[in-house]
Amino acid sequence: MSLPEVLPSRAEVIARVKSQGKRLLAVMPIHYPRALLRAYGFHPIELWGPPDAPVAQGARHFQAYTCDIVVKATSFLLSGGADVAEGILVPHTCDALQGMAAVLHDFVHPRQRVLTLYHPRERREADRLYYVDELARLGRDLEELAGKRPSEGEWTEALATETAATTALAELYRDRPRLALGDREFYTLVRSREYLPSEDFIRIASAVQRGAPRAADGVPILLSGIVPEPMSLFDAIHAAGAAVVADDLACGFRRVYEIPERGSALERLAASILDAPADPTRGTPLAERAEELILRMTSTGARGMLVYGVKFCEPELFDLPRLRHYLGEAGFPMTHIEHELVSTLGQQAVTRIEAFVETLQ
Ligand code: SF4
Repeated sequence: MSLPEVLPSRAEVIARVKSQGKRLLAVMPIHYPRALLRAYGFHPIELWGPPDAPVAQGARHFQAYTCDIVVKATSFLLSGGADVAEGILVPHTCDALQGMAAVLHDFVHPRQRVLTLYHPRERREADRLYYVDELARLGRDLEELAGKRPSEGEWTEALATETAATTALAELYRDRPRLALGDREFYTLVRSREYLPSEDFIRIASAVQRGAPRAADGVPILLSGIVPEPMSLFDAIHAAGAAVVADDLACGFRRVYEIPERGSALERLAASILDAPADPTRGTPLAERAEELILRMTSTGARGMLVYGVKFCEPELFDLPRLRHYLGEAGFPMTHIEHELVSTLGQQAVTRIEAFVETLQ
């Protein structure tokens, strides 16, 4: 079970898109309007760490209880790791990322311009109007950086390509039981959205072979959390006798957007993010999130939920006690494993996964 083609490395993608005259933007998690960036000629390279970045350089700018994603990304930026980018987009995903944007903007002063994007936490009409204005503000910042405003043709192309890419991702999830891919390959492909040009993602995702639906290759579970690092997590889950049949990952299903067909470009992009699957970082009410997760677990046959959460991730931690209660009432056990952003999965995590899978058998 392998991907239809070998995925290029980040370095290869960066070299290629630059040779095509595109500009690069380093982007922090989680939600941002890809089509807006594309219309202005920017290609996003996302920073979810990286896990092998040192801690010390970034850590000196934050409290000791700041998550590794923020600390390591700051180290990475300070060490010149993203110098190829012309700007750094820091969405207001959480207090930690808001703090990072402030530290970069007010104290560290990186060479690149620091851009922000503030998401509303509710979905009233006023929030939608606010968010359209906020996207317009980001557009003005991109215009200053790029020195140009997109033509109507560029907007049309950007929206069409990003709509096709979000559809390709949604179809991967929809066809999951029919795909000739193991969990690790599946999530390698899903996570290639973090750096791969959308046209490449569409081509590769569409080329994944679809066969007859297969039963899960192990005890079916739903994986929740921010980012499955290291990716050997999937090997450990498999070795423990489980299979990930659904997820609630910030880098995964929470970003299965649907871009509506009606409205202005900014209204469509705003709606795609505001109406995305439940996400505590976007302020989804807990009962609503629990209902969505229970539905997802029921429809995919998942027997329990493994929360693999980044240490000190407040938005995730706030939800967990009540979420455990809601899922427990519906008959779904849940376990929570806290992790740092490292390149090797610890033995303690492996043992906890094995114990959890045993309880589900
Ligand atoms: S891991 Fe949690 S706290 Fe850290 S950047 Fe992501 S959402 Fe924010």
